[in-house]
Amino acid sequence: MIEFILASGNAHKAEEFSELFDKKIISVEKAPEKIEVDETGKSFSENALLKAEGYFKKFKQPVLSDDSGLVVASLPNELGIHSARFGGEGLTDKDRAELLLKKLDGIENRSAYFICVLCLYFSEDEYYFFEGRVHGQIGENYSGSHGFGYDPIFVPDGVDERSTLAELPNWKKENSHRSKASLHASSFLRERDCQRV
Ligand code: IMP
Repeated sequence: MIEFILASGNAHKAEEFSELFDKKIISVEKAPEKIEVDETGKSFSENALLKAEGYFKKFKQPVLSDDSGLVVASLPNELGIHSARFGGEGLTDKDRAELLLKKLDGIENRSAYFICVLCLYFSEDEYYFFEGRVHGQIGENYSGSHGFGYDPIFVPDGVDERSTLAELPNWKKENSHRSKASLHASSFLRERDCQRV
């Protein structure tokens, strides 16, 4: 079993990731302290790597980092790696989601996807990336009380009712971008483990 620290000061994220991984293979602990990392990368993987490097330099321990966001086909340059800052400083999650609904008013192409890139960082010479996506549409209304961020306006593909992710907490647990990326990372670690025996 390998112990990783999560490159985030967010205890909720550490808990979510530790539930997503098989504890026999990997344990994910909250970092002892939050490190400020400038997310200056031009892609999700560059930002995940910057976070991992920052935490590894400080704590000298394997690091799990992630970067995620919402990519909206009709607004290619506005969200993506900038999702957390869409609309500028001082907005709540709800403000951002409502702003997005407003910007898409009257626009036919409402396709979007959530993406998560994970980085398993063992050392400066050994790190790996894993990706997960969930495709769907930006709905017409803000709806649902679970989850966070853009969940209340995101209608995933492949679900019968036109529900938002904020109305589908159980579905999200199994099908989210984070859970898919974590599955890829888990099977990689399982194989890596087998090869070492
Ligand atoms: P970060 O990976 O913590 O930098 O998150 C980037 C931003 O993407 C968040 O602030 C949210 O706005 C958005 N986001 C990422 N994952 C989700 C999700 O599962 N639901 C809703 N919004 C998300």
